[in-house]
Amino acid sequence: MTEATGIVGEFLSLKEETEADLLAMQCGDFYEFFAADAETVADELDLKLSQKSSHGSSYPMAGVPLDDLTPYLKALVERGYRVAVADQYETDSGHAREIVRVVTPGTLLETSDADAQYMAAIVADSSARGDDPAYGLAFADVTTGRFLVAEAEDADEALTELYRFDPVEVLPGPEVRSDDDLLGLVRERLEATLTLHETEAFAPKRASHAVREQFGDGTVDRLGVGESAVAAAGAVLDYVEETGAGVLASMTRIQAHRGDDHVTLDATTQRNLELTETMQGEREGSLFATIDHTATSAGGRLLKEWLQRPRRSLEVLERRQASVGALSTAALARDELQDVLGEAYDLARLASKASHGSADARDLVAVRETLAALPAVADVVAANPDLADSPLAEILERPDRDAARELSETIEEAIADEPPSTVTQGELFRYGYDEELDEVIERHEEVREWLEGLADREKRRHGLSHVTVDRNKTDGYYIQVGKSAADGVPDHYEQIKTLKNSKRFTTDELEEKEREMLRLEERRGDLEYELFEELREDVAMRAELLQDVGRALATVDALASLATHAAENRWVNPALHEGDRLEIEQGRHPVVEQTTEFVPNDVRLDDNRGFLVVTGPNMSGKSTYMRQVAAIVLLAQIGSFVPAKSAEIGLVDGIFTRVGALDELAQGRSTFMVEMSELSNILHTATEESLVVLDEVGRGTATYDGISIAWAATEYLHNEVRAKTLFATHYHELTGLADRLPRVANVHIAADERDGDVTFLRTVRDGPTDRSYGIHVADLAGVPEPVVDRSRDVLERLREEKAIEAKGGGSSEPVQTVFDVSSGQFRGAANTDGGSPKSNAEDDDAGALDAETERVLEDLESVDVNETSPVELLSKVQEWQRTIEE
Ligand code: ADP
Ligand code: MG
Repeated sequence: MTEATGIVGEFLSLKEETEADLLAMQCGDFYEFFAADAETVADELDLKLSQKSSHGSSYPMAGVPLDDLTPYLKALVERGYRVAVADQYETDSGHAREIVRVVTPGTLLETSDADAQYMAAIVADSSARGDDPAYGLAFADVTTGRFLVAEAEDADEALTELYRFDPVEVLPGPEVRSDDDLLGLVRERLEATLTLHETEAFAPKRASHAVREQFGDGTVDRLGVGESAVAAAGAVLDYVEETGAGVLASMTRIQAHRGDDHVTLDATTQRNLELTETMQGEREGSLFATIDHTATSAGGRLLKEWLQRPRRSLEVLERRQASVGALSTAALARDELQDVLGEAYDLARLASKASHGSADARDLVAVRETLAALPAVADVVAANPDLADSPLAEILERPDRDAARELSETIEEAIADEPPSTVTQGELFRYGYDEELDEVIERHEEVREWLEGLADREKRRHGLSHVTVDRNKTDGYYIQVGKSAADGVPDHYEQIKTLKNSKRFTTDELEEKEREMLRLEERRGDLEYELFEELREDVAMRAELLQDVGRALATVDALASLATHAAENRWVNPALHEGDRLEIEQGRHPVVEQTTEFVPNDVRLDDNRGFLVVTGPNMSGKSTYMRQVAAIVLLAQIGSFVPAKSAEIGLVDGIFTRVGALDELAQGRSTFMVEMSELSNILHTATEESLVVLDEVGRGTATYDGISIAWAATEYLHNEVRAKTLFATHYHELTGLADRLPRVANVHIAADERDGDVTFLRTVRDGPTDRSYGIHVADLAGVPEPVVDRSRDVLERLREEKAIEAKGGGSSEPVQTVFDVSSGQFRGAANTDGGSPKSNAEDDDAGALDAETERVLEDLESVDVNETSPVELLSKVQEWQRTIEE
């Protein structure tokens, strides 16, 4: 292939320079993609592909108009591509081009999504020993300026932190890059683009320098995190700078996120509990969508963050509860807050836009209006004694209210009420803001007025009818006179154009005014743009203030939303404590109760009863019951009220849920392998203070395997992990565990059976299910009588904890499998050596052998083949056969 030259050659060599997946290069009024990039883009965005010939070769080409780049970029980045943008600039010898920005999922500023948009870096600490954290992480949202660092003891914990923030882009540190297991899980579980940023950016010295430079000298000490977390933070800063996002100024604060302040909630659990989207991937029907009544997008974002990161601190939660409680009984104040907050914009996002230099005058008006919402909210709170006494008052005191008022006044004095969206063409500022500008404005208005009055003046002065004065691009300003009057124009009129029904003229005076007008417009545009940039920089300098005010408003919004939901759905304030007791009286599922006549249910767990085996027929409500318990605990740990008549909730350090692969398979999601690795993760990670919900775990494999795994997992959770556990199972065998393990108890979902119909009562009762509805269903479905009878028989034996032997048919070998309930194990019983079934035979009539057979077996055992002649053996066998046949 020939070396590409010309514009394509330039494109390809710029492409070499960047790590980005795609390059958009400005060529005049277009951004063009060439070669393979053009094909990708055309494919992804449905663009027309054309050919560009360059020195004898032809290359695919796709382009978008200059002004339309943003939506295309957004679409590409949201599909996971990193796109470099090269702008064209003038040189002495023509044009040159240079990459000015790389837009990536984590640095996209033009998002219209209200969700947080985190970028993460993860760095392994190879020298970590013992309890040292093995990973450092950093999370940054360029759209809001939020920046956090975290540490994790091992890879699992690191993944949990990553799940928690659900980043759109991940920068793995140098060592993590060769950790295929970890990267594999990141790829599998997160919808994040993996970016290999230059390794030097992760170097401890350079990284800590970058962190100190950005956040101040004492930062590293204050954070109290290790080298790897600082390296992660430094790498993120470096990356943000290098991509040219230009938002470093809005990153005003770095905070250490401590996992142990938060309830562990991994990705699978978030999905199973349908926190932010349903299993089908819909937002509607998720827990968040159900409880979200926020008035602002920042409030919604915060509420979602609370749900994804529930808290463990009793103090924090009780403070939130106090605010929710006060708001829940103040319906009128809530309405007022909704009204005020309805006028508020997303301050954190606006701060970021100001820092980036993309905020326009309307954005500054939005800043002003939102800053003004703070005192308005404070007034509502102050006017209601309950609210004034609640922690809400303190939340509103946190931002610097005077500084907020000052900034708001500054913007108010500067920017016109309804400024245009362009910032280069003037008319943004009020008269009186700047003396120099005022002069220009005055003169500008004078000329404008002169031009506006010109038509009337000309009519009067020269006795003309049908005169208009207007301007367009080609003719500039002109006097247009209707055809009938066109012949009577005075001599100094100079004709410039003839139209069908009229003629256009100009005069020396008009031309002079036109020149002045253009000069003034340009002057005003330039001056205002200069002033605007200054003002925008002032606002950007106050990024931290904007973030503070935004946070306070969002917090009030989120708390008011919780209160609204509690009041409208008769939720109650749960009593929180640090013990083990979990007692929910008449609990409901927060989402299902919205659409169903819900039958409330109790749950009780404590020191002596820490593990519930939940049985009940298919579709009776087992999964709903368990999810309801998990959701109630989770809601309690964000400070919310809960759907119940009353609730006492011992705080947990983690919530773990797993759904058996069979149920998951129906959703086309999972495999048995995944089910098991998730189970393994729970058994490793859950603690005595966790809540574990297992739904039909073990179901993804053959019954025997399944029961065995479920059995062993139960023992382990009960004896070793000691987590509060709810385990729904259709393996009736597991109900026997309650007799063997002290803290295991059975509950079942009651159903009523009459005249061959099963009615689900949806009520949870103590004890195991009293019958198998599976067999009942088999009977109803017309399964042959002997099969139904035999299964009843087998069930009966299982229930009486007796071994079952499989029946051999006809002359075929009686291959047998025995489920030994006492040991919870299976063993083959076909080739019994005589000793094996004995342990059961002693206490099991049905499995016992009659006396004759027993004698034969003993005889058989005692025969020494080496000492016995073949004839003798043959006669013995004949004798045995006779004995058995009798
Ligand atoms: P299982 O897990 O036992 O098969 P599910 O929990 O999936 O049953 O529930 C089956 C159906 O019953 C669901 O449609 C659910 O909405 C409904 N349901 C469950 N519990 C209740 C309840 N307490 N009140 C009303 N409907 C319920
Ligand atoms: Mg179920």
